[in-house]
Amino acid sequence: MRTNFAPDRLELPNMARVEHNLRACVHCGICTASCPTYLLTGDERDSPRGRIILIKEMLETGAVPSDETVHHLDRCLSCLACRSACPSNVDYRELIDEARSHIAKTYRRRRADQLLRRLVLETLSRPALFRSGAQVARLLRPLTKSVPGRLGDLIAKGARALPARQPLSTPQTVEREVALLPGCVQAALAPTIDAATARVLSRRGIRLVPLETAHCCGALAHHLGEDGAAKVSAKNVLAAFAAAGGTERFAEVLITATGCAAHLTTYAELFAPRDPLLAQAEALAGRIADLTQLVRALPVAAPQALRVALHRPCSQSHGLRWRSDAASLLRAAGHSVVDLAETDICCGSAGSYSLLQPELSAQLRMRKRAHISRSAVQVVVSSNIGCIDQLADPAGPTVLHWIELLDWSEGGPVPAGLSRLLHA
Ligand code: SF4
Ligand code: SF4
Repeated sequence: MRTNFAPDRLELPNMARVEHNLRACVHCGICTASCPTYLLTGDERDSPRGRIILIKEMLETGAVPSDETVHHLDRCLSCLACRSACPSNVDYRELIDEARSHIAKTYRRRRADQLLRRLVLETLSRPALFRSGAQVARLLRPLTKSVPGRLGDLIAKGARALPARQPLSTPQTVEREVALLPGCVQAALAPTIDAATARVLSRRGIRLVPLETAHCCGALAHHLGEDGAAKVSAKNVLAAFAAAGGTERFAEVLITATGCAAHLTTYAELFAPRDPLLAQAEALAGRIADLTQLVRALPVAAPQALRVALHRPCSQSHGLRWRSDAASLLRAAGHSVVDLAETDICCGSAGSYSLLQPELSAQLRMRKRAHISRSAVQVVVSSNIGCIDQLADPAGPTVLHWIELLDWSEGGPVPAGLSRLLHA
């Protein structure tokens, strides 16, 4: 694609990479078939090819984007299925990240939209606030049932009982230590996941060392274009890692949500070439571990063999491009594991997307639930808390992190959602 950047625009950070990616796009449209929003709306402006044109026009001039441009870019999930499909190696992530950052700096959103985005970012990224918010939402729910729109959706989603924090077990003989980032949303919604991870790794002589002061990795802020807040979170994570022993002590850093892992592997992009934190960011990014690579199969059989569907998060398939092999581990424990249809299409969770774009998100969830229903499985497993929460369905199969199912298979406690199934 031909571009027309003014020379001074090309001197801005990241802009040369943006131009390179724009020029690499030959407008073939191959990516459109894998784009969830285009599949739903059929609108070219909701496709990667259409969005790339909107981004080009916006970033070439640096002008304030139109309402129409922001509308269609906001509807992008950042799932990166288009990047995986592109034969010309266009890195769409770099384009949409820069576009979101430009919108955040230049575009004036309506007051209600600003407040909602702020509320989502502040509550989701702070587990303590998330817990308090969930309690308040539960108390207020009878009074707020009539609250319309996205705020009503937010209250309805937040009004839930959250499980208590759980201790992490340690092996009797420690052969290796791995740093653990507890994260934010998952720490509040499903502390059972890290507890199960610690038990599974303990059986293999691995001790998890939680970096308690690290808090949110900054992915939520980054996906909202809030570069400053994302960088503050990254600095906090780097400080917590260094305080715990840093690269001297840990060869691997684990986070059990692939959405966060994908962001952590791009940490170096947050820091300028001369920034003293760049080397630390690169070192941390290079140590982000794939949990399936830390777990070797043990000769155990699950108390009951189950039919399991594996939902691969976009952050794993398209963001990290990890060929993680949770299926082999579960099969080794006796379960039968199938892939869902449309495995490369996003479930509609996408960080805060389900709260900010509830209509499209709900359509994608229903599409995925229909595939789950047709697969006739008893359990669905995934590796990202956002997907697990999005796919949870009281009328459908139990949805878990795969490590929780493996932990139970190896003698760990019955995960909450599984006890209902086992009793039935
Ligand atoms: S597949 Fe790649 S080159 Fe083709 S339109 Fe999409 S982004 Fe552009
Ligand atoms: S990131 Fe996902 S939603 Fe956005 S344009 Fe690409 S395929 Fe479509």
